[in-house]
Amino acid sequence: MDLSVFATMESEVRSYVRAFPTVFDTAQGSILTDEAGREYIDFFCGAGTLNYGHNHPVLQKSIVEYLSGNKIQHALDMATSIKKRFLELFRDNILAPRGLEYKLQFSGPTGANAVESAMKVARLATGRSTIVAFTHGYHGLSLGALAATANSWYRDAAGVPLSDVVFHPYDGYYGEEINTVALLRKHIEDPSSGLDLPAAVIVETVQGEGGINVASNQWLQELRELCTEKGIVLIVDDIQIGVGRSGKFFSFEHAGIVPDIVTLSKSISGYGFPMSLVLIRPEFDVWKPGMHTGTFRGNSIAFVGAARSLEEFWSDDTTEKLIAHRSEIVVDRLNAIAARHEGKFSVRGLGLLRGLVSEQNNDLGSAISREAFKLGLVIEVSGAHDEVVKVMPALIGDDETLNRGLDLLDQAVDNAVA
Ligand code: PMP
Repeated sequence: MDLSVFATMESEVRSYVRAFPTVFDTAQGSILTDEAGREYIDFFCGAGTLNYGHNHPVLQKSIVEYLSGNKIQHALDMATSIKKRFLELFRDNILAPRGLEYKLQFSGPTGANAVESAMKVARLATGRSTIVAFTHGYHGLSLGALAATANSWYRDAAGVPLSDVVFHPYDGYYGEEINTVALLRKHIEDPSSGLDLPAAVIVETVQGEGGINVASNQWLQELRELCTEKGIVLIVDDIQIGVGRSGKFFSFEHAGIVPDIVTLSKSISGYGFPMSLVLIRPEFDVWKPGMHTGTFRGNSIAFVGAARSLEEFWSDDTTEKLIAHRSEIVVDRLNAIAARHEGKFSVRGLGLLRGLVSEQNNDLGSAISREAFKLGLVIEVSGAHDEVVKVMPALIGDDETLNRGLDLLDQAVDNAVA
């Protein structure tokens, strides 16, 4: 495969062609096909952007129909019929059945835009500045969001100091014996801790980029209690683990907590078009009209896929049941791999975001990803040292393709370990 144009024009290949050296051309469901006609099973799903797989026929049809009429494409956040449809479906299929009440703020097209919006409104609402983020957290790479992203590999790329975010240990950072919410409470209550009363806490219930670290329900409940007691805005970043990936539409449903602000992006648009939004509890929705705008907020085509996907997949509990079924298959197979290579791997995660964690050798994660690609499986790594193989198949699809992907992973592990 000739990849030279990527090398010459993409500035020494800073793109994914590095990890997956081919030119992808078509895609259907969980299958990617490259220009040479070779097929790959997709266990990456655009880092959680393609929860319903590629080119789902129902979503595709709605988009083709919308495009072939003279429907409004760009409306700069004006009220349109497709936006109305999305809002109605989000209210009726997502918020109302869960008893949730939020104001929606469309942000720019990416997840980082939503995170920045959340941090901004929380600061205005509280009149305070400090935001608490967590070790291993990932919230995006634009300056504001980057300030809340823990990994120095990304932080160093800014070239300037990143301000007003304080990092605190995530659940399990010190092992099971230390309750890090209790530690945060102590810091907040001790006037000599050096921590100003924060405006907000931003947290992923499962850290996707940081190594598939799962916060316990109890830890999240205690964090919710602490924030309520101290008047701190609790922001849950559901950009990667949200929209069904955890097994429920919102990841925080597992812990039974209600965040003050929720960020969504990636799979919220259903079909892969860029879209992000922020859900804000009414009491924190303090922006005046026109205070927070942007040209590409709420793109019409993104709304088409978003609305149709809420209708197709979230009108009843069929999708949740399917995710539970598929995640059982994944967990059984990953546990079998870990058992066969005793002591080398552990398995962790939630729903259909699972990690095969290399316990002894940080290079093994990337080696497995490389071997998998050779065999026809696209799979990413995560964690501070890329030591975690991130198993992220589509939420929907047939068992046969899922098992075939897991067979390839199994083989890739054997090849990498050998
Ligand atoms: N938050 C989380 C939890 C993410 O996983 C990501 C993307 N990986 C982002 C924010 C940033 O999203 P984007 O890359 O679209 O800016």
